[in-house]
Amino acid sequence: MNTPQLSVVIPVYNEEQGLQVLFDRLYPALDKLAIAYEIVFVNDGSRDRSAAILREQFQKRPDVTRVVLFNGNFGQHMAIMAGFENCRGQRIVTLDADLQNPPEDTGLLLAKMDEGHDYVGSIRRQRNDSWWRHVASKAMNGLREKITHIKMTDQGCMFRAYDRHIIDAINSCKEVNTFIPALAYSFARSPAEVVVGHEERAAGESKYSMYSLIRLNFDLMTSFSLVPLQMFSMLGMLISVFSALFFVFLVIRRLMIGPEAEGLFTLFALMFFLIGIALFGIGLLGEYIGRIYQQVRHRPRYLVEAVLEKRDE
Ligand code: UDP
Ligand code: MG
Repeated sequence: MNTPQLSVVIPVYNEEQGLQVLFDRLYPALDKLAIAYEIVFVNDGSRDRSAAILREQFQKRPDVTRVVLFNGNFGQHMAIMAGFENCRGQRIVTLDADLQNPPEDTGLLLAKMDEGHDYVGSIRRQRNDSWWRHVASKAMNGLREKITHIKMTDQGCMFRAYDRHIIDAINSCKEVNTFIPALAYSFARSPAEVVVGHEERAAGESKYSMYSLIRLNFDLMTSFSLVPLQMFSMLGMLISVFSALFFVFLVIRRLMIGPEAEGLFTLFALMFFLIGIALFGIGLLGEYIGRIYQQVRHRPRYLVEAVLEKRDE
């Protein structure tokens, strides 16, 4: 029991309606794999009965269940981080609590790992999300791949398997804002992907709005790449060269044609365009500075209220 072959890490936030169904499907699915496993639930400060339900489940299966209880809501990725720090398996699978990915497919991920991969991502077979999420995620994927060189067909899917050495590397990172699949990818020797099933959320509702999806993507690009920032200095350079040429052009016109007052609105348009770019640039700088600020504060990334686990005698 000391080092199970498999740890399944599951973040839980206000999932009281879905948890029982999850237990009913997850435990039998893992029992069927016939390997030593443990399930690590991380309650991310749920305000419903989720924590109580997890406690009950721990009483029922203390041999294979661990529960980490946060005393606040620190976000899905911090919850997974805490799960990583509290798991002991040789291989680690992350799974959402909402059953959008069937736990029965865990075997598929592990089989792919048997082929010698240390990171197995997943692609949702057919996505049952709303259309705008579909379009948005396609666009973001392309952009992310260009900027960060992280190849991930389906970044929204958390159902992934990692080798122990990747988890150890992640545990040694002290990043405040991060996107775990991308972080893990950057440590992987031989990443692979498999296709897994995908279902509509069984119960409860999605914790992500359009706004938080945009935030997540900003985090993703700025945490893993300096390209957005560098693009800005390149753009700034191009614009200054262009403005310098424009200035020379105006000076020549002044000398040849004499004073003229037309073209005022062209100048306005040009100016607003440049102001817009400048504002965006300042915002982008802010993204990085904000990140530095969060990092230098050295606040604990999450606070654990209790860990329910069976003590090994
Ligand atoms: N989650 C979490 N903390 C949060 C938000 C979400 O632990 O602040 C968990 C949630 O319980 C679920 C997983 O993260 O297990 C994915 O959340 P959700 O299904 O709402 O995301 P979506 O599938 O809509 O991307
Ligand atoms: Mg979900």
